[in-house]
Amino acid sequence: MKKQFAVIGLGRFGGSIVKELNELGMEVLAIDVNEEKVNEYASVATHAVMADTTDENTLRSLGIRNFDHVIVAIGDNIQSSILTTLMLVEIGVDHITVKAQNDYHEKVLSKIGAHKVVHPERDMGIRIAHNLVSKNVLDYLELSDEFSIVEIEAGARVDGYTLIDLDLRAKYGCNIMAVKRGEDINVSPAAEDVLKHGDVLIVIGADRDITRMEQDLF
Ligand code: ATP
Ligand code: ATP
Ligand code: CA
Repeated sequence: MKKQFAVIGLGRFGGSIVKELNELGMEVLAIDVNEEKVNEYASVATHAVMADTTDENTLRSLGIRNFDHVIVAIGDNIQSSILTTLMLVEIGVDHITVKAQNDYHEKVLSKIGAHKVVHPERDMGIRIAHNLVSKNVLDYLELSDEFSIVEIEAGARVDGYTLIDLDLRAKYGCNIMAVKRGEDINVSPAAEDVLKHGDVLIVIGADRDITRMEQDLF
């Protein structure tokens, strides 16, 4: 059966989630308190309704309990975001993902029981910063305050070298988890494997060490 999604708040973030879910063939209910936003997404979403989701009866009458996943993408109005999330938790929605505006907002959302809190502006900022430090960094995933996984494109400086030559584990405490080469992906690279310019390395390590490695090698 198709998964049913509901997206509350049709700003840039919520709106792009609605569009992408639609492209992926999912059923998506788009909700906003603002009529213009609702009209804008009427043709994109499976259904679009105007509603204030801080009202519990409104939420229940939408049958929100029956959705597999509800995304709260209310931006600047932190109070509405928190109230809506609290109500969804109380109603017992299975999966609730909420966009946080700042660290305090994030803390409150986690405490009241949001299943997942996302922080797209901060995360994108971190990614872009890494990308500015090194043009070869393609993607970045924060595991904790200290550790991350990065996707780095191998440049000319490492072309023709093996993992033994580079000795990343000893020099930087970083591990290469996988190497992508075109369509191929090697998930257990051997120490003797030779890297090629253009390979994409998936590296895990401490942020400080990754940054050092980025600056030295990529
Ligand atoms: P983004 O940064 O993703 O563009 P934004 O900063 O534009 O988001 P807002 O405009 O603050 O975010 O909020 C997103 C949407 O949430 C708005 O279209 C707003 O009308 C809607 N919204 C705010 N409060 C409620 C509410 N109580 N019920 C439903 N929708 C709401
Ligand atoms: P160590 O003695 O450092 O534990 P090892 O006994 O695992 O190394 P090899 O597997 O032969 O020895 O690897 C030799 C060196 O090659 C490692 O010390 C490491 O620096 C580097 N290396 C091998 N595989 C990887 C990897 N996946 N990611 C990062 N470095 C690697
Ligand atoms: Ca915003």
